[in-house]
Amino acid sequence: MAHTVCLLPGDGIGPEVVGATKRVIEAAGVDIEWVSLPIGETAIEFCGSVLPERTIAAIAGHGIALKGPVTTPIGRGHTSVNVQLRKRLKLFAAVRPVRNLPGIKTRFDNVDMVIIRENTEGLYSGIENEIIPGVAQSLKIATEEACTRIARFAFDYAVSRERQKVTVFHKANIMKMSDGLFLRCTQKVHRDYDGRVTYDQLIIDNGCMQMVRDPSRFDILLLENLYGDIVSDMAAGLVGGLGVVPGANFGVGCAVFEPVHGSAPDIARKGLANPLACIMSGVMMLRHMGENQAADRIRDAYDAVLTEGDPAHLTADIGGRATTDQFTEALIRKLT
Ligand code: ATP
Repeated sequence: MAHTVCLLPGDGIGPEVVGATKRVIEAAGVDIEWVSLPIGETAIEFCGSVLPERTIAAIAGHGIALKGPVTTPIGRGHTSVNVQLRKRLKLFAAVRPVRNLPGIKTRFDNVDMVIIRENTEGLYSGIENEIIPGVAQSLKIATEEACTRIARFAFDYAVSRERQKVTVFHKANIMKMSDGLFLRCTQKVHRDYDGRVTYDQLIIDNGCMQMVRDPSRFDILLLENLYGDIVSDMAAGLVGGLGVVPGANFGVGCAVFEPVHGSAPDIARKGLANPLACIMSGVMMLRHMGENQAADRIRDAYDAVLTEGDPAHLTADIGGRATTDQFTEALIRKLT
C-alpha cells in the first residue's frame, strides 16, 4: 500500500540532503506519494510566509513529514520556523539517537544514547521584551502539563526500547521554580516506572562535563527545550558531528522527521553537505511507518559504506572527499 508523506526541503543544504534521502528511500523500493510543501525563507518567495498555512494543514492532515532544516535569522527577523511548527502541530517531543557509527573514528567507541527534548516551552516560548532601552527580558515557561507529558514520553520510550535509565539535566539550583517543576514532575512520573527504569538527575554543567568525559554512562537523556538544543549538538560532536545525528519530533497523531543540524549556509549549494543525518531521519520515519525491512536495508547500506571508509565515498565532514551525490550513489549501490 502506498504511503503519503509530506516533504519539506527547507533552506540552505535542506534541498540537497532531503533530495538525497528521497532518492535513497525510493531506491529501497518503498512506495511513497510525496507531497512537496514550502517552508522557510524559500517559502516567502512563493507564499509570502516562512510557514504557510497550507503547509501546516497538510502535515496535520497526513500526520507525517520529512523535513530539511530552515534558516533562523540571528538577533532579528521572524521567529524560528521550527519553534512555530512544533508549537502549531503540538510536536512536544524531539527524539535524537546519538550513537557511534562503524568506520567513524571518534574519541569514544561506546556512545549509545537517546536525547529526548521538550519541544514546546522553556525559554523557547518566545516571550521577550525590552523593558526599557538597555534592559531586555526573556521568560522561561514551565507547565506541569508539558513537563509531565514529556516525562511520560521518555519513560514510555525507555520501556518500549528496553532501555535502563533516564537522566535529567537541570539547573534547579538557580531556576528553582521552572526547572524545579520539571524535576518534580519527572520524579512523580518515575514512580509509575520504578523497578523497570532507573532515574538520575544531574545539574547541567556537571552533566556536560560527565558527558564529554564518559558518554557511556548515559542512556536516555530527558531535557527541557534549550538544554536539549545545546546538548544535542554537543553529543553529536562525540560521534562524528552534525552530519550523522538524526531526529524526529512527535506529537499526538503527527510526526516530523528531520536531522539535528541547521541549514549550514556556509556549505549550501556546494555539494559538500553530508546527507547521512537526514537519511537516518528517513530511516526513523520508515520504522514509524512500519517499513522495517526497508529501514534495515538502508541502515545496512550506509553501515557498509562507512565501514569500507573509502574517502571517495565519504563527505568531507567525516574524513572523505565525496560530494553529497557521490555519497548517496555509493549508498544506493550497497542496497541489497
Ligand atoms: P541552527 O541554528 O539552525 O540549529 P546551527 O547553528 O546548529 O544551526 P548548522 O547549520 O547546523 O548550525 O551548522 C553548524 C556547522 O556544522 C556548520 O559549519 C556546518 O557547515 C556544519 N554542518 C551542519 N550540518 C552539516 C552536514 N549535514 N554536513 C556537513 N556539515 C554540516
